[in-house]
Amino acid sequence: MVNSDLSTFSPSERAGHGQTKTFESLPAGSKIVVAGAGVFGGWTALLLQRKGFNVTLFDCWGPGNSLSSSGGETRLIRAMYGDNRRYFEMSLHAWDSWREIEKATGTRLMHHTGILWMFDTKGVDMVDQMITVMEERNHPFELLTAGKARLKYPAINMEGLDNLVFEKQAGYLEARKACGVINSLFIKEGGTYRQGQVKPGSVRNGSMTDIYVNDRKLSADGYVFACGPWLKQLFPELFTHFISVTRQEVHYFGVSPSYVAQFEQLPPWINRESGEFFYGIPGNDYRGFKIAYDKRGKEIDPTTMDRRADQKNVETVQRFLAKRFPKLAGAPLVESRICQYANTPDGNFIFDVHPDAGNVLLLGGGSGHGFKHGPVVGEMVAGVLSGNRPLDLVFAIPSDFTRGV
Ligand SMILES: Cc1cc2nc3c(=O)[nH]c(=O)nc-3n(C[C@H](O)[C@H](O)[C@H](O)COP(=O)(O)OP(=O)(O)OC[C@H]3O[C@@H](n4cnc5c(N)ncnc54)[C@H](O)[C@@H]3O)c2cc1C
Repeated sequence: MVNSDLSTFSPSERAGHGQTKTFESLPAGSKIVVAGAGVFGGWTALLLQRKGFNVTLFDCWGPGNSLSSSGGETRLIRAMYGDNRRYFEMSLHAWDSWREIEKATGTRLMHHTGILWMFDTKGVDMVDQMITVMEERNHPFELLTAGKARLKYPAINMEGLDNLVFEKQAGYLEARKACGVINSLFIKEGGTYRQGQVKPGSVRNGSMTDIYVNDRKLSADGYVFACGPWLKQLFPELFTHFISVTRQEVHYFGVSPSYVAQFEQLPPWINRESGEFFYGIPGNDYRGFKIAYDKRGKEIDPTTMDRRADQKNVETVQRFLAKRFPKLAGAPLVESRICQYANTPDGNFIFDVHPDAGNVLLLGGGSGHGFKHGPVVGEMVAGVLSGNRPLDLVFAIPSDFTRGV
């Protein structure tokens, strides 16, 4: 089961939309273990700590490590999600929290460069949906014809493109750096971080009584498993059929010194042609011209996957570069990063209580678009654990997917 590439850009609503279930909250001061210091677990730990819980955060390899989905240099931030207004609102809300962290730590993480969305004639439905939502919510954008875009962005070959939308406040986040910053803030505000591998422990009378950290038993009042692509291995009875973990490649190309200024000024872009997505971030921290072919790769094990670039994938992006950014034809590949998406069938995240253990929350299913939403996800968990909000069933694991290993 592998979801479609479109679900990253415009997830459909999962059944359960508008419905909630209650969760037995825990009083402030309760001991909570969070497993996983990626963007979901990192924000969750910080916001639980701020609610007065006694939080210990564990990660096998460290916050924003190179194996994790959050470990890339950069991640796009956008509010545009086709006609999905839920993620539109979540994105805008998350930007405020990212800004708060930037202010609290004096670190720049967000870059509101804008994003140029480029579509061929077949993209017209998505463009119409985007425009409807942006107009409805007063979200600033500019609609460009191919002719107008050619004048504004001479480095891009506009051939075959028909609909271009510049989403003015979108941009990118410095991802790996952000995970480290959140973790430092969490520790500064009284949280405990330890490196260690967490394994679920015994379940008795509807609760998990303990967990194992590096094979040593440890008990807490509540447990949050925010292990991204590893959730599937930790809870196969729940996620074997619900999460697919796919290989995703990102490549960086060197730009000739004659063109570097021109390319670094380009905004991040998303190109949809014949139903396929490519995207890129031209210039961050002098890493080169980042580009990805956003097709789901094969299913992998995130711990043991061979992270060398696949020649076919490199050739696909080189062909695309030569066509869409002709001055980059033949540009040298300077770096590749191989990562993974934790996909759900519809692209919606997972935030649910374990069906057999009422004190265990499960968090993940980023589906290739989760990074920007880290603060909102953390806020949901902190709200549910402290009893201020119910669990939204739109992020629940549908019962027909569980127990079917
Ligand atoms: C190539 C690529 C491009 C992407 N582009 C974008 C984008 O442009 N915009 C966007 O918003 N999102 C994007 N995403 C998606 C986004 O990065 C993910 O949705 C997000 O990082 C998921 O975070 P997470 O915390 O759920 O998982 P992870 O970041 O994988 O974190 C899980 C953590 O759990 C730890 N862990 C695992 N098992 C255990 C255990 N047993 N005990 C303790 N710790 C454990 C791991 O070490 C890891 O640190 C992209 C993802 C990829 C791979």
